[in-house]
Amino acid sequence: MRWLNEWQPPTKIQKDTGAPYLHDGARGFYLCADCGHSLTWPEPSATKKKDKGRKKPAKEGRDLYEHAPKCPRRGQQPVPCAIVAASKAVTLRIFVDLPLDWEQASDRYHRWGYSRPPPFQWTPSNRNNPSSS
Ligand SMILES: [Zn+2]
Repeated sequence: MRWLNEWQPPTKIQKDTGAPYLHDGARGFYLCADCGHSLTWPEPSATKKKDKGRKKPAKEGRDLYEHAPKCPRRGQQPVPCAIVAASKAVTLRIFVDLPLDWEQASDRYHRWGYSRPPPFQWTPSNRNNPSSS
């Protein structure tokens, strides 16, 4: 089984300020492949000036997109990406005896199912191959 997570849809503010996103239904994650930080897009208050969030970062101090201090990609805006996890699926079935007319008593019985991916950790050992965790 394979899970694909493209994060939430981009907000109107993110679209209006030129934030990169995968498509209208998903913004994508802003993960840096070098420093591993989850990057940010500057808030509108920081982008009101004519450069619209693309100002060059200071050589020292905090990076505009929050790369690590020694990251070679400092000053580079985030590239949206999806995360994927794959593993064998496990199904737990619970058998319950129900009365023959259970489908007519829909106010008392409900079908349900629950599906979730395993915990996903982004660690140095698997950061270049997330599906190997
Ligand atoms: Zn970085």
